[in-house]
Amino acid sequence: MNAAQRSSPCSVQARTMGPRYSARCAMLELRSHCECCGKELAPDADDAMICSFECTFCAACVAQRLDHACPNCGGGLERRPQRPAAMLAKYPASTARRALVCRTPQ
Ligand SMILES: [Zn+2]
Ligand SMILES: [Zn+2]
Repeated sequence: MNAAQRSSPCSVQARTMGPRYSARCAMLELRSHCECCGKELAPDADDAMICSFECTFCAACVAQRLDHACPNCGGGLERRPQRPAAMLAKYPASTARRALVCRTPQ
């Protein structure tokens, strides 16, 4: 195994892009649930949506309750990329539960 393979994808980027990238480099938390309805969102969920701050919501809430804008920052929401299983074993998803921002039950 050479040095590049041993490094995280992040540090490979830092080496090629310099210290300015390195300082800001962080992987996604892959939050475990929708911050609106509380629905579980697995790391490989295909209906997980995130904003630029990684506020995390399910696709149903984004379309039906949030009007395609993050209720925390007002930014747009995009489909969350899925982390490959091999990387997930090395860099596990977050399991922290966050306060739900949508107070009123549907
Ligand atoms: Zn939801
Ligand atoms: Zn946000």
